[in-house]
Amino acid sequence: MNTECWVWTGRVNAQGYGVGGHSKRLIAHRFSYELANGLIPEGCEVHHLCGNRICVRPSHLALIERIAHRRESFIERMKTKKHQLPFNLDSWLRQRLDFIEE
Ligand SMILES: [Zn+2]
Repeated sequence: MNTECWVWTGRVNAQGYGVGGHSKRLIAHRFSYELANGLIPEGCEVHHLCGNRICVRPSHLALIERIAHRRESFIERMKTKKHQLPFNLDSWLRQRLDFIEE
């Protein structure tokens, strides 16, 4: 990214995302995305283009399909752990979608 991140200065949850509101259930980057672009459609998630989980700059956020998002985070994690990826990654992921954390 060639613009600076807008770093959330409030609380951060266990997953490393900025949270706010009374119950701390408001996810900062999702809220920021919705303020700028409208509601997040069903089946979609907000992806950080900058890779910085506490960034709330709307231009660093993009809408991505849930499956594609999980796929990307999963591949990233496998790479950092130097694991081999499953042969048929997409169907493998679809079966495990609910178990794979954001
Ligand atoms: Zn950013």
